[in-house]
Amino acid sequence: SPVLAGKVAFVTGGSRGIGAAIVRRLVRDGAAVAFSYASSAAPADELVRSIQSEGGRALALKIDSADAAALTAGIDEAARAFGKIDILVNNAGVFLGGTLDDFSLEDFDKTLNVNVRAVFVAAKAASRHMGEGGRIINIGSTNAERMPWPGGSAYAMSKSALVGMVQGLSRDLGPRGITVNNVQPGPVNTDMNPVDGPNAAAMHGLMALARHAHPEEIAGMVGYLASPEAAFVTGASLNIDGGFAA
Ligand code: NDP
Repeated sequence: SPVLAGKVAFVTGGSRGIGAAIVRRLVRDGAAVAFSYASSAAPADELVRSIQSEGGRALALKIDSADAAALTAGIDEAARAFGKIDILVNNAGVFLGGTLDDFSLEDFDKTLNVNVRAVFVAAKAASRHMGEGGRIINIGSTNAERMPWPGGSAYAMSKSALVGMVQGLSRDLGPRGITVNNVQPGPVNTDMNPVDGPNAAAMHGLMALARHAHPEEIAGMVGYLASPEAAFVTGASLNIDGGFAA
């Protein structure tokens, strides 16, 4: 039987991009998957329909990750619908760019609320529904280790914050047999960072492998971390970045 048969996952930001690839991968591996989105109802519903048409179990919930009460309630709702939560993937994130003089405190707060605070909130909520073998996986960024251009201070800070958070949470949850890790992608071809965007060539110039990743490649590392085989990996921040930070 598939490696995640009988497991339940919750993925934040599953309507598009890396999150949607993660949803499909976890379903392919046998999990029932609930996922959130901020505003893209049409692609979210289409993803659910396509999974259900192939016999999979999926549920889409409109939840702004910046709203802690809504995020907690949504995770509780998913746990009621599917009976428990085994795997939490904190994927939802925003990139708001700007150099020091131009970057507003509103954008600073939004970056922290979605990229950092929501990860803590979701971990708190989901871990209450987890048993032995639970998994918390965050999508960080190679920018936690290398931010080679101006305008990325808040984003890089938000992803660096996750490095410390998984170190601490791995200690909190280790006694319960729950692992907590970050996956740190380099450039991935999504709406956030399209392969035909203006900065693609500059990014490729910094990499050992001069290309964007496919979202499915990132989902592959998440699939590994979610699996029983990864039980000894915890507190780690793992680059999957084509050598961007090498
Ligand atoms: P996209 O912008 O393509 O997709 C973002 C997803 O997150 C969408 O499903 C979106 O929902 C959801 N989302 C955004 N804000 C919120 C919110 N406030 N509440 C709930 N859901 C939200 O991004 P990517 O797929 O490229 O990125 C996914 C993650 O990977 C992010 O954490 C990002 O920082 C990280 N990352 C991306 C890289 C890249 O090169 N693409 C590189 C390294 C890390 P909706 O469709 O409703 O807007």
